[in-house]
Amino acid sequence: EAKYDKGLEKSRKTFGERMNALFANFRSVDEAFFDDLEETLIGADVGFDMAVRISDELREEVKLRNAKSQQEVAQTIVEKLVDIYDEEGKDEKNTINFAPTGPTVILFVGVNGAGKTTTIGKLAHQYQEDGKKVVLAAGDTFRAAATEQLEVWGQRAGVPVVSGKAQSDPAAVVFDAVKKAKNEDFDVLLVDTAGRLQNKVNLMKELEKIKRVISREIPDAPQEVLLVLDATTGQNALIQAKQFKETTDVTGLVLTKLDGTAKGGIVLAIRNELHLPVKLVGLGEQIDDLQAFDPNEFVYGLFK
Ligand code: GDP
Repeated sequence: EAKYDKGLEKSRKTFGERMNALFANFRSVDEAFFDDLEETLIGADVGFDMAVRISDELREEVKLRNAKSQQEVAQTIVEKLVDIYDEEGKDEKNTINFAPTGPTVILFVGVNGAGKTTTIGKLAHQYQEDGKKVVLAAGDTFRAAATEQLEVWGQRAGVPVVSGKAQSDPAAVVFDAVKKAKNEDFDVLLVDTAGRLQNKVNLMKELEKIKRVISREIPDAPQEVLLVLDATTGQNALIQAKQFKETTDVTGLVLTKLDGTAKGGIVLAIRNELHLPVKLVGLGEQIDDLQAFDPNEFVYGLFK
């Protein structure tokens, strides 16, 4: 059974149904077919430019392969989508970068409600199950609820949470957490941060300070700065990603709530415009609903 069987139902249903409708009238791969395909792709939120590019390249590919049957054409489409994803980031890894020795630090950034805390909780659980020693840092001291929520996730996953007083300096909380991670031989430190994009300069300063505190204690850390994006916001997620990329050195993306949207195609749009690898995908609200991202399985999951 495939990795994304649970979680891509909505995207699959909408996209799959449109594709089926497209193929229901399939007589030959003519201009009308490609126009419809383009619309279907735009509807799945791959973005306008990307949809045009895909259908242009498919025209060529279908000709080249002399694909005529519905099955051949469908196969060509799937392969094209995977190719496009892959070629946008040949040098990028979809997997999380780990420190060869000592604690690995992963910083999570993104606007409130994107799913940072939930993702940290899920990932803590996964790493814990893998036998890693995990600690969390409640770096969003701006909202009291954020710290409480992280503590709930810490309990669920069975990992400690380092937190500070409300409104205290997030960098101080992170400093305490890094010390703990080092002194007590933790394998992974997951750091939550406040996502106030309203004040870009402050956010940038805060994130820079947090990063400085981390790398002063552990030279190569943070190993990852993951931007968490809510897939249900579609093209808005793309705009947010652009703004965060200007604010800090993002190393990868986490796309959450894919279970709640038919806009799974946003993965391609983000990849095309920002050249950032998607590293994790959120497929539900439960602790197990987080998966490593695999472009092949993902695209096949959309079509199944
Ligand atoms: P934060 O403000 O960025 O820390 O966001 P939260 O982690 O608090 O998440 C906001 C809401 O999104 C919560 O209600 C979560 O349960 C929900 N959420 C997070 N990830 C997912 C996901 O992958 N799927 C679904 N359906 N809901 C999610």
